[in-house]
Amino acid sequence: MVRFGPAGNSSLFYEEGHKSSLEIPKFLREKGLTAYEYQCGRGVRVTEDFCYKLKKASEENDILLSIHSPYYINLASEDREKLDKSFHHIEKSLWAAEKMGAKVIVVHPGSIIKGKKREESLAKAKSFLEEVLAKTKNYEGIKIGLETMGKVNQLGSLDEVLSLCLLSNRLKPVIDFGHLHAREGGLFNRREEFQKVLEKIGEVLGEERLREIHIHFSPIEYTQGGEKKHRTFDEKEYGPRFEDFAPLIFKYNLSSVIISESQDKQTEDAILMKNIYDSLKGGR
Ligand SMILES: [Zn+2]
Repeated sequence: MVRFGPAGNSSLFYEEGHKSSLEIPKFLREKGLTAYEYQCGRGVRVTEDFCYKLKKASEENDILLSIHSPYYINLASEDREKLDKSFHHIEKSLWAAEKMGAKVIVVHPGSIIKGKKREESLAKAKSFLEEVLAKTKNYEGIKIGLETMGKVNQLGSLDEVLSLCLLSNRLKPVIDFGHLHAREGGLFNRREEFQKVLEKIGEVLGEERLREIHIHFSPIEYTQGGEKKHRTFDEKEYGPRFEDFAPLIFKYNLSSVIISESQDKQTEDAILMKNIYDSLKGGR
C-alpha cells in the first residue's frame, strides 16, 4: 500500500477553520490522505501529552506519521560540540516519534566540509552515524531517514545517501525527487531517469529496502548551485512531474510513503498525486 500526505500544514487547513495540529488526522482522512509528516525543522518542541493525543487521533483516522527532524543537524561536522547538538536533535526526534507512533524521522545529512573533498565529509558522517546508532539502540523500531538534498554543497547526493544507508537496516533512504532534480540540473524529465534511481537503490540496498523507501515529491526551482524554491504542480514550468514517476510505483511494487512539500499547497498536491496513482490503479 502506498500512502500520500503533506509535510506540515498548508493554508487550506487554516482556511477551513482548523487551528490545532490534533485536528490534522481527521482533516486529512476527509481529504482521502493517509500520511502526515510532522515538522520539527526548527526544533522538537512537543510535550509528551501532545504526542499521545496526536498518536491517538492518527490511529483513529488511519494516518501514518513521520517526523521531519531539525534542520540544524549536520552529521559531517568537525566540531565535537556541534556533533553533540546534532545527536541531541536526533535523540529528541526519536523520542517524539516513539510517543507519536511515527515510524521514521527524516534527517538532513549535513554539509560538505569547506575546502575538503566530499569523501572526507562522507567518512565523517559515517563514523558519527555509527555512534548515533550505538547510542540509540532503545529506539530500534524507528528508522532514521537520510534525505537526498537539493544543493550541491550539501551532503546528500543519491550515492552518498545510499552509501550511508549501507551502515545499518535502521537507516532508510528518503528520496526527495525534487531535490535530486535540482542538484542534478533538471533530472527526471523522462520516466527512464526515475527508473535509473530506483534501479540503483535496489542494486545497493536490495529489493526489500527499495520497496519501502520514504519519498518527498514536489516541483522545484533551481539554479546552478541546486535548489532555489519549492513550487507547486499548478506551476507547470517546474519539474519533476508526478505523472512520469507514478507508473513505476506499480512496476517496482513500492509500498512507500509519499510526502508533498509543495510551497503552501502540500495538502492539495498530495491529493493530486493520490488521484494520479488511483487512476493508474483503476486501470489495472
Ligand atoms: Zn527535508
